[in-house]
Amino acid sequence: MKRFVMPVLAATVAVLGVSAQTAAASPGSYPTPIAKTTSAATPTAAAATAGVRPATVSYPPLRLEIGRTPEGRQIRAVRQGDPKATRVLVVLGQMHGNEKQAPLVVSAVRRLVTRPGTAVWTIMTMNPDGAARGRRYNAAWVDLNRDFPTSGRYLGGLSGAWAWTQPETRSVAGFLTRLRPDAVVSFHQPFNLVDGDNPKNVGWAVKLAAWTGVPAGIASCGGACYGTLTGWFNRTMPGWAMTFELSSAPTQAHIDQVAWVLVNRLAPAIRDFR
Ligand SMILES: [Zn+2]
Repeated sequence: MKRFVMPVLAATVAVLGVSAQTAAASPGSYPTPIAKTTSAATPTAAAATAGVRPATVSYPPLRLEIGRTPEGRQIRAVRQGDPKATRVLVVLGQMHGNEKQAPLVVSAVRRLVTRPGTAVWTIMTMNPDGAARGRRYNAAWVDLNRDFPTSGRYLGGLSGAWAWTQPETRSVAGFLTRLRPDAVVSFHQPFNLVDGDNPKNVGWAVKLAAWTGVPAGIASCGGACYGTLTGWFNRTMPGWAMTFELSSAPTQAHIDQVAWVLVNRLAPAIRDFR
């Protein structure tokens, strides 16, 4: 969650296709799985699915522990889809423990079958200690979305004392650095907004807005946003990252639609322009 929402700028559409980022490295493999299952569900139909053929190939998911919180809770990442995928999407369900519906998108994604040539990694929550308390901050009262190294300075208040001070932040940043996905969509609540706050993600924000019915816009923090996951990723990784704000009370049908769009619209198209 950020703090203020500004209207979408129509001019942002003009940025479409302008980005000249170099191609991401092959996502390759990632450390040893901690468990495997073989279940694979049929894709959920949604209004947005009309006319799109269903996926025909499924792979058993790969489940990894990517870190632990100070209280010993696991932070897990699950890969669905082609282990040799050339199009790799990461969906982060929750960073702030009081945003309780956001992880439901991950649950919905995990019920879907990915498209050929794509892989979707999901992290249900990177803040299970905060989720256990139903609060925004982690057990150390740090806002994890102010603990990524974007500012080079102490942010004060409830940010980390510098950057990457928290195990949760380091776990996710390490995972993303090794995986080098094409894109990361980080879910929050409650502003009902696809956040096109960066030249790397603004074109995709417009697309996701059209696909999901959630308005595109720019969520600011009352100035520049420091210490955010998306800010760090967009600055340091070849791919792009985006904040996706659900409303305060999204319906299950809407959550299913958003999940379907991520798997069937975004992931297959994820390298079409950058
Ligand atoms: Zn949030």
